[in-house]
Amino acid sequence: MDNNEVWFDFAGDDKCEDCRGWDGVDSRCDCGNRRVYWDCEKGNGCKCKDRVETAECEHAYAVAD
Ligand SMILES: [Zn+2]
Ligand SMILES: [Zn+2]
Repeated sequence: MDNNEVWFDFAGDDKCEDCRGWDGVDSRCDCGNRRVYWDCEKGNGCKCKDRVETAECEHAYAVAD
């Protein structure tokens, strides 16, 4: 039992079944139904778009496509 796991809520989880969320690292959510990634609510104008680690941006949020 790993108690260190952190699950993020993400937009577009309506097709998930028995899903705890997204771990922020894998390309899939917990149940595997959705591909989840970090995006930035400020969009292309944000400074984080020039970096690899969008997750570190203060405006980052998790979204599924
Ligand atoms: Zn899921
Ligand atoms: Zn950003």
